[in-house]
Parts: sequence; structure tokens; C-alpha cells
Amino acid sequence: MTDRALNARVAEVRELADAKGFSSAPERIWEMLALIHTEVSEATDAYKKGESLEHVGEELIDAVIRIFHLLSALGLDADALFDAKMAQNWQRPHKFNTMRGG
Ligand SMILES: [Mg+2]
Repeated sequence: MTDRALNARVAEVRELADAKGFSSAPERIWEMLALIHTEVSEATDAYKKGESLEHVGEELIDAVIRIFHLLSALGLDADALFDAKMAQNWQRPHKFNTMRGG
């Protein structure tokens, strides 16, 4: 993939964060990582409570937004990282040689 779609979304999230007064200081990494966890937990809780899949999805998008904000704060190239990781994963064996889960 070479269309740089992720970096465009990362820039969009950063623009919103800046406009709404959220700090993007890289030293916030611990806080930002924790906030990503909170959104995944919110998705888990919504699913557990039988809420709509749209609500579960909304919480997952919150996690994606927070991940994009952190990638921006760290100055990382989301598209390059995604492409490299997917290429690596395509080379891995069936179920990545795991016995359980996945
Ligand atoms: Mg949320």
C-alpha cells in the first residue's frame, strides 16, 4: 500500500487534538498509552453489557484515534510502519505457530 492513507488520518487527528487543546508532547507517552487501553476497555464493557455493535465500534474508533494521536506525538510514519508490519506478518506461518488464542 502506498497511498499514505493512514498518515492523512494521523494528520487529521493531530489537527483536531491541536484545535481542541490536547497536548501532543511526546513525554505524554505513558498517559497516551493508558488512554488507548481505556478505549479498548470501554469497547469490552459495551460488548459485555450487550450494547449495539455500533457502540462497540465507536469505542474501537476512539482507540484508533488515540493511537493515531500518539503516532503523531512520536513523529512516526504510520503508513511505513503498517506496510512493514503487514509484509512481515504475511511471511509468518499459519496462525503464527500459536497453539491457543489468536
Ligand atoms: Mg470512548
